[in-house]
Amino acid sequence: MTPIPPAARSRRIASPLSTSQMTTPLPYQDASIGDIIIRTSDNVEFHVHSRRLADASPFFADMFTLPPLPTTSSTEGPTITEKLAVDVSEASTVWSKILPLIYLAEEPPLDLADLRALIATGRKYGIPGVVGHARGPLYSPEFLDEHPYAVYALACFGGFEDVARVAARRTLKMSGCPRPAEAFEFVGGDAVCRLMRYREECCEAAVLITEVMNQADILLPCNPTSRGFSCSVPTQPIYFENDGWKSTYKSCIEYLDGLSKGLSHRPDPSLARHASLLTIIVTSVLSCATCRSTIYERCNTFAEQTEARIETAISQVSVQTVESGEYI
Ligand SMILES: [Zn+2]
Repeated sequence: MTPIPPAARSRRIASPLSTSQMTTPLPYQDASIGDIIIRTSDNVEFHVHSRRLADASPFFADMFTLPPLPTTSSTEGPTITEKLAVDVSEASTVWSKILPLIYLAEEPPLDLADLRALIATGRKYGIPGVVGHARGPLYSPEFLDEHPYAVYALACFGGFEDVARVAARRTLKMSGCPRPAEAFEFVGGDAVCRLMRYREECCEAAVLITEVMNQADILLPCNPTSRGFSCSVPTQPIYFENDGWKSTYKSCIEYLDGLSKGLSHRPDPSLARHASLLTIIVTSVLSCATCRSTIYERCNTFAEQTEARIETAISQVSVQTVESGEYI
């Protein structure tokens, strides 16, 4: 990767070493510290050590191969140390997050916009440590649960295949895709298409589970022959390839139809336990004392087993995430 040079090439300016400026200086704004000034687009100057930047970034290492400027002194004023000033195109909000990482200082709070800036700026200046630092925070539940699409996009942007895979899986809990311009503006179309294809395949796999293939996967009414009376709950025959025709509650078919409809656009296994769907079954069996006595336990087991079957089906869908060279 060829780093993009700063907006304006470095130039040398004078920086006074004044003791009055050394009282409780802001981080990296103590003029007595360092031999380099990073001057941001909003004219904030960060005083840093060239050695530290050079160790972190080959780009800066090359820049600092220039011969050092001599230290001069004045008989009427404070000692003047000339520093190399590097004008960068990023704002101070970006470099105030990057510098602590380069200096291995306490990590600043990072939101998704910060992480995007870290990845973009780290790649621009060839600072792999800064780019890589964005990986860990992307795993936080705060981001994964609330913004899985954005995390997926940032993971693709940063080349974090493991994060992208987890984020793609987490998007299945979302009913739809956010506005593309908001979450995907900095990744290539291929990454977006792969995520959408993954979701579609998961939807298909999940919906297939609602098309039950054997009687163990549905709720059966109480046995009328052994108890000498007919179950009063409305039932519906259903054919199984291995078991032939069996009766199930009509409400069980309604549950499966509703679950299928939900999974067709939101392949989230936990939908199988959704109260609105289970209520359909529970309320339908109240007319039969036998069925009613066990329905809560049977419903819970049925829902958990259905959820597990959907989970298994989805886990078998592979997601292609990051491919080399897809970045924009
Ligand atoms: Zn019954």
